[in-house]
Amino acid sequence: MSLDNKKFSWAIGGFLIAYQVLLLVTLPFYLYFGSPTWGMCGISFVLLYLTGLSITGGYHRYYSHRSFRTGKFLEVILLFFSTLAGQGSALRWAFDHRLHHAHVDTDDDPYSIKKGFWHAHFLWMLKKQRPIDPKVVPDLIQNKYVMFQHRFYPVLMFGSNLLLFLCVGWLMGDFWGAFFLSWWTRFFLLHHFTWFINSLAHTWGDKPFCQEQSAVNNYILAFLTFGEGYHNFHHTFAHDYRNGIRWYHFDPTKWLIWSLSFFGLATQLRQVDSFTIQKRMVREKKNLLLEQIKTLWYVKKDEIEAKIHEISGRIENNIQAFNQLKEQYVNLKKTTPSCSELLEELHLEIKALRKRMRNDWKAWKHLCASLTHLKPIEV
Ligand SMILES: [Zn+2]
Ligand SMILES: [Zn+2]
Repeated sequence: MSLDNKKFSWAIGGFLIAYQVLLLVTLPFYLYFGSPTWGMCGISFVLLYLTGLSITGGYHRYYSHRSFRTGKFLEVILLFFSTLAGQGSALRWAFDHRLHHAHVDTDDDPYSIKKGFWHAHFLWMLKKQRPIDPKVVPDLIQNKYVMFQHRFYPVLMFGSNLLLFLCVGWLMGDFWGAFFLSWWTRFFLLHHFTWFINSLAHTWGDKPFCQEQSAVNNYILAFLTFGEGYHNFHHTFAHDYRNGIRWYHFDPTKWLIWSLSFFGLATQLRQVDSFTIQKRMVREKKNLLLEQIKTLWYVKKDEIEAKIHEISGRIENNIQAFNQLKEQYVNLKKTTPSCSELLEELHLEIKALRKRMRNDWKAWKHLCASLTHLKPIEV
């Protein structure tokens, strides 16, 4: 990307370049001549996590995607900590992010990876910002907290960080440490962790949910991005409050939102049901496998193709049948006494279907695993 003078944002671009260069030059001096303590590192880490989770839970999953609802109390807390992160106002962040989802990988995507890794990571922010179109963020324009933060953002961002730096410095008796670690380095790390989602999470990883766009699942990145590494899932089911769908997927933002809902501070958590997700995964994998066997020399090629269609078709039909039976069961339960024979029959039918579904899923996994090892034809 060429840096055209007329298009360069002197305020934002200048600030982002200057603070990073200054930090990289002065930090080694502080580390060598200063006296960084474990206590200061600990406080800085906690602040990094609080501000990071406010960006992922607040700016991203709450404001950009509306994946849950919350009250004024939590909203103000989220806005306070996300202001400390120095990533622009919630309105600007959500506006850019909604455009990113709606136009991913095209010219209208503000941080399109198609313009290069560094464009997606950092360079896009050096350009003058496009005006905010109210049609993209009509809900946020109505929100007085969001608009207050947007209007006074530079003052609020510098003011809150200055206040925090003074508090941490006074508390720990170390103003240099508070400045370098709890403010500057925290700022730097969180900026790059967030930017990784636009660059790395659109470059290296796998695509189990959607092959058509660049977003990937990168499990290592999830550790640095508070759970946002499962980006292929996120671009496929953007309104789901989770990014890592399995319980063991490292997604602290999902755990935070779930915990808040447990205490009644977050409500209406949006979640795609597991069968819809499974159906999507099977469809994507089926297309991949069919593409893959086209390149194979293998005597049983037709047989394999038939097997792929057979098992994937069975899984899809079973999911459809399951949803119908479940609906019937729920409707019947409303009108019939709980111990009715019909209800019991339906319950047994659902149980048997679930067993068949588990077996089909195992057969599908087995087929996928065995086909992965087949080598393409050599000419
Ligand atoms: Zn993305
Ligand atoms: Zn998103």
